[in-house]
Amino acid sequence: MLAYRDYLRLLPKTELHCHFVSTLSAARLISLADRYGVELPTTDPEELFAYDDLADFLVAFRAATDVLRTSEDLATTAYDGVRAAVIAGNLRYREYGVNPQYFAARGMGYREFLEPVIDGLRAAERDLGVGFRLVVAINRRESAGSAVELVEQMISHPYPEVVALGQDDLTPENTEDPGRFAEAYALAKRHGFHLTAHAGETATASAEDVRVAVDVLGVDRIDHGYRVLDDPELVARLRERQLPFATTPLSTRALSGWALDPGHRIARMIRAGLNVSVSTDDGVFFRTDIGREYSEGLFSFGIDAEGAKAVALAGIDGAFCDSDEKARLRAAFHAEFLALDALLEPGAHAAAPA
Ligand SMILES: [Zn+2]
Repeated sequence: MLAYRDYLRLLPKTELHCHFVSTLSAARLISLADRYGVELPTTDPEELFAYDDLADFLVAFRAATDVLRTSEDLATTAYDGVRAAVIAGNLRYREYGVNPQYFAARGMGYREFLEPVIDGLRAAERDLGVGFRLVVAINRRESAGSAVELVEQMISHPYPEVVALGQDDLTPENTEDPGRFAEAYALAKRHGFHLTAHAGETATASAEDVRVAVDVLGVDRIDHGYRVLDDPELVARLRERQLPFATTPLSTRALSGWALDPGHRIARMIRAGLNVSVSTDDGVFFRTDIGREYSEGLFSFGIDAEGAKAVALAGIDGAFCDSDEKARLRAAFHAEFLALDALLEPGAHAAAPA
């Protein structure tokens, strides 16, 4: 018999909101920093990964991009990150946010950065059966013009695995302001890329940022999106459309201080009937993995087994892969659900009723 938390950990999963750099293990981050003489504030993971807010975390995140310097660093990180997620939480498919602008700033070209990442992920797909796609993300510190140049690179160097444009980090004014990059999004859309954006995440963000991402940029998915709850009309519209939200429970605890309980915004979004999947966001920095997002996050939200399976399936609905791959994933998930349901301890349920 399986206890409910183990059941949640063993459910088959996808992950749609995962920053590539954050799939580094803490041990590799510390050893690469040592090899390249990159100064870390501390080599004690307890302190290294303690932040006061999003801006504080982003300083650490940007430093970590500095330790991935060679093709081998990138390919090995890619491969090992998949392996770790299969062990931690039965990962079956993952989409990665990648930030070529961070690497360009250090002299690494678009293809020089992406090809070893793709090679490492392809090797992992071959060995472990975990499919993947990449979302090229605009770094919001950079200008709107630089974002257009990034999309031009996506167009002139096509890879079948690179299927979408996103945006992350914060503007120099520490805002989200997704509409700033409307020209880059329009160009990507004209060339057939899917669109997503980090919106409605931070304390200074609002439901209006989510609305702008949907109505002005035309995104087909939202990363985070928690502030949407402050606009009931928008919630109703996005529920009707079943627009996917790729949320990240444990990183909200670290950055927003929100308690993981049934009153959490993500739990309320699920109960409101929105299309919600869960992901790690930045695994190494928030000391989480895809298993814990379910066994701690969904568990603490009071989500029962039916709800957890719906979240896992939402992670297929919202994916940017083709319909054949989605159909294969759905069939595999349903088969595993049957086996896991048969093993679930009778009467097992989440921490507190929602
Ligand atoms: Zn993110």
